[in-house]
Amino acid sequence: MHELTVVQQIVKIADETVLKEQARKVLNITLEIGECSGIEMGAFDFAWPIAVRDSVLEYADLKVIRPKARAECQQCFSSFTKHQPYDPCPKCGSFIHHLYQGNELKIKSMNII
Ligand SMILES: [Zn+2]
Repeated sequence: MHELTVVQQIVKIADETVLKEQARKVLNITLEIGECSGIEMGAFDFAWPIAVRDSVLEYADLKVIRPKARAECQQCFSSFTKHQPYDPCPKCGSFIHHLYQGNELKIKSMNII
């Protein structure tokens, strides 16, 4: 499961940060997971408690921000919101777009103590 690997990587980063800052645990963490990041939220929610068990993230408050998928058509240069990964441009029907928002997969902020 891809999502489990992602959460394990987040745990690793949190672990290293806590160690480096000589803290003890993470109080809260905010993640940015774009709607086109390829993360399935059902699988993510399932993987999170499994992967954070016995880690510095075990009791952390988790907040997830989900930026909408915004693309710019490379044919007519109009901007639009994608609802599916393979949505065509609503204006000209082109499939060649540049996704400039919505594929985020990162830790936005983290508070440690
Ligand atoms: Zn277009």
